[in-house]
Amino acid sequence: MTDLLGNARRFYINGEWCEPVGDTIIPVINPATEVEIAKITLGNSSDVERAVSAAAAASATYKQTTKSERLDLLRRFRAAYVERYEEMAQTISAELGAPIDMAREQQTETGLGHLDAFIDALEAHEDREVLANGDTLLFEPIGVCALITPWNWPVNQIALKVIPALATGCTCILKPSEITPLSAVVYAEMLDAAGVPPGVFNLIQGDGVGVGTSLTTHPEVDMVSFTGSTRAGIAISKAASETVKRVSLELGGKSPSLIFADADLKAAIASTVNDCMNNTGQSCDAPTRLLVEQSVHDEVVAMAAEMASAIEIGDPSMMGKHIGPLVSDLQLDRVLTLINVAIAEGAQLVAGGPKAPDAIEAGYYIEPTVFAQVGNDMRIAQEEVFGPVLVIIPFQTEDEAVKIANTTPYGLAAYLHTTDEVRQERLIRNLRAGMVHVNGGEFKYGSPFGGYRMSGNSREGGSFGLDDFLEVKAVHR
Ligand code: NAD
Repeated sequence: MTDLLGNARRFYINGEWCEPVGDTIIPVINPATEVEIAKITLGNSSDVERAVSAAAAASATYKQTTKSERLDLLRRFRAAYVERYEEMAQTISAELGAPIDMAREQQTETGLGHLDAFIDALEAHEDREVLANGDTLLFEPIGVCALITPWNWPVNQIALKVIPALATGCTCILKPSEITPLSAVVYAEMLDAAGVPPGVFNLIQGDGVGVGTSLTTHPEVDMVSFTGSTRAGIAISKAASETVKRVSLELGGKSPSLIFADADLKAAIASTVNDCMNNTGQSCDAPTRLLVEQSVHDEVVAMAAEMASAIEIGDPSMMGKHIGPLVSDLQLDRVLTLINVAIAEGAQLVAGGPKAPDAIEAGYYIEPTVFAQVGNDMRIAQEEVFGPVLVIIPFQTEDEAVKIANTTPYGLAAYLHTTDEVRQERLIRNLRAGMVHVNGGEFKYGSPFGGYRMSGNSREGGSFGLDDFLEVKAVHR
């Protein structure tokens, strides 16, 4: 069993669990019970200095390792991950409020799914290429990487950054979200058990203003890989610009689900409602705007409201298909505020609403909520709610559907439901999104994850995810 509470207060630097220099201590709260489950220490610039020095020193030797040595490390890590899989699921469930079955089958599973896809991509990866003009290209690790991750899919995001860094020969400093820091502690212990060389992987806890800013402005950090809000992504880009480091951004979304009258309506609505509400609506690529062809509008509104109302809410420690609470009181406050703004702006509430579910005594719970008669210019249609809230917007023509779909600042995912294959192809090309799901088609490991416009500028996972951590050197002879 892990020494979780002990290591939660420590940082993993240069291959050792060490005492932080920073002395601000904050609690980690279980969002289902509102009870403190651990404390973490927020690092400061001295902690960042130690971790960056360790990563920079380790880089000199780690970048010389062979592909097969790095594949061995990833395979040893895989074994360590499998060994403590259940503990990881329990940790995510407690810190995030993810129902335990979902934490096992989805949240924790992503850590293995991405790892296996990166192992496959690394096996196929060549670190040199000869161009048709005779010149040679070398693909080299970019160097020291700061990896900053959010709370909503904690291990998913960590795996999408730590594994490609290690796979390509980079060294790294992970700063997980201060709201879900414990899964990162378990992850670091697994890497330690797998024998990651000292300094190659480092973990510091901290907030965005403190550790985040120190990392993004540090001259010895070559790259920042960030997943989180668009607001923080902009701040990070500005902070990193003074030292011209590479900045990879995976940001927010407001993804549309287009449902045409010829679709299998029941399947289309079920997939939209379930994908929107999964993880209590806290997924960046969730389909949160349901765009429906006018001729089936009323039918779709009724079915969506019924399906959302049928979703059960419950204790994350219980097995089952229910959804859990939102991650924090702050998140609950944000979601309630946007629901109230939508009501004030004239959206029609057809399921849920700004209230806690019946019989809930503690925890940041909220009912799955659906709005109809939503205008695409309303705040509820434009802003990322990050809660279980679906808005329904009617359209008359395909052109109008595309226009509404593309009119938000984001462009992460789009979901498309029509049986007309010619229309599918047209829409796939016209939708401004990094990922298009057709008739419920699911994301597969190894495919690039990422978005257009204010949803970010990079692609994570598989071979695209490796490329993100590589520099290109052209050799002219
Ligand atoms: P957040 O932006 O508040 O925080 C994310 C991380 O950035 C945390 O570790 C935080 O401490 C750090 N941070 C915050 N401000 C910073 C700054 N100025 N400098 C450096 N670091 C800073 O986001 P969140 O609330 O943790 O996560 C939810 C957001 O993440 C949503 O907007 C969601 O859409 C987005 N997200 C995007 C993807 C994707 O792949 N596109 C995936 C998951 C989540």
